[in-house]
Amino acid sequence: MTSAKQDIQLVRGQFPILHQEVNGKPLIYFDNAATTQKPLAVINALNEYYSLHNANIHRGAHTLADRSTGYFEDTRKSVQTFINAKEAEECIFTKGITESINLVAQTYGKKFLNAGDEVIISYMEHHSNIVPWQMICEEKGALLKVIPIHANGELNLEVYEQMLSVRTKIVACIWASNALGTINPIEKIIELAHSKGAIVLIDGAQAGSHISIDVQSLDIDFLVLSSHKLYGPTGVGVLYGKRALLEAMPPYQGGGEMIREVSFAVTTYNDIPFKFEAGTPNIGDVIAFKYALEFVTKRGLTNIAAYELMLLNYFVDGVKNIQNELGVDCVELIGTAQNKVAVQSFNIKGKHPFDIGMMLDAKGIAVRTGHHCTQPLMNFYGIEGTVRASFALYNTVEEIDVLLTSISAIIKR
Ligand code: PMP
Repeated sequence: MTSAKQDIQLVRGQFPILHQEVNGKPLIYFDNAATTQKPLAVINALNEYYSLHNANIHRGAHTLADRSTGYFEDTRKSVQTFINAKEAEECIFTKGITESINLVAQTYGKKFLNAGDEVIISYMEHHSNIVPWQMICEEKGALLKVIPIHANGELNLEVYEQMLSVRTKIVACIWASNALGTINPIEKIIELAHSKGAIVLIDGAQAGSHISIDVQSLDIDFLVLSSHKLYGPTGVGVLYGKRALLEAMPPYQGGGEMIREVSFAVTTYNDIPFKFEAGTPNIGDVIAFKYALEFVTKRGLTNIAAYELMLLNYFVDGVKNIQNELGVDCVELIGTAQNKVAVQSFNIKGKHPFDIGMMLDAKGIAVRTGHHCTQPLMNFYGIEGTVRASFALYNTVEEIDVLLTSISAIIKR
């Protein structure tokens, strides 16, 4: 075995779920953009937390409560380091990106948007970065504008630049597209928005596990992440916000933890991050999330991205070989931007994406089919949906060979 092969086997050894058969075939998990699998370090941390430490946090005067609080706050520090935030207090725990974006729309948006203001999003946003803005724009009489894209799945930055004006208050943009894989030039997007005085929210769902993040050098105002896309547990999200912005925002939900003092006449609110963390949070999963961040950091995002890009190129070259052999229009690649994460959507002529998904599942291959929560984007391409293969650090070229062989077989059916 070459050392690269040994290395990948060591990585795969960390993910117990991969070592099983599905429909009588070895599982090939290519649905990583939907959620990544969890390494042993995360699974063990969850087990240890509930076996040894479980207690409610921040309020308890006993050892387990102190211990749990310490571990919970350790994860906050890990998130701070992972995204290079200036302060740990700027990192708020939510239940996922969807909640993080709704939080910003319903607090920052509610306070600072006025009738006639504009919010800009892009054509390739996930529904979770469309609907919350539609809701608040409707409430406030603000206008939602959409950056168009080119056919290859890249943003039309010239039009974006023209769309910006002093009326633009918020730009909310996806870093890497879950449907197309496109990595957007967020430095430029942020710089242009700031030049008009707008603040920027970046949806880092598909960036966190592939691209290293530095919120300070990128001057990101709000960044949202989901733990489950980053080898961590479900039910944990992050909202990073610059301190001044978070302090200016009203609370999102009222309840325990987010208060300083409560009387029936008046309530004063806690400092950040607690002002935005009402109620008992998802303690065990937040604690385990730290081990996912450690896992990714230890492997190094540059190494991870380079390996995954090799897998993506291997797959795309394989599809092109099939096109050469069986006809150029037999399989169509959707999302062919220059700069991509390891996500590839495709369609097979004459076959419904859902049926392709079922046929691949019969071979043990897990892919996602459908609109990927990007219906406006699918409308742009004039399609109902796609089949999407998304690769992670534990996938192999041998697995992609199985996918390519299966695609050929489906075309020939
Ligand atoms: N944005 C993107 C780009 C995503 O891929 C997803 C998850 N599919 C989300 C937002 C929503 O994340 P969550 O479901 O974890 O809230």
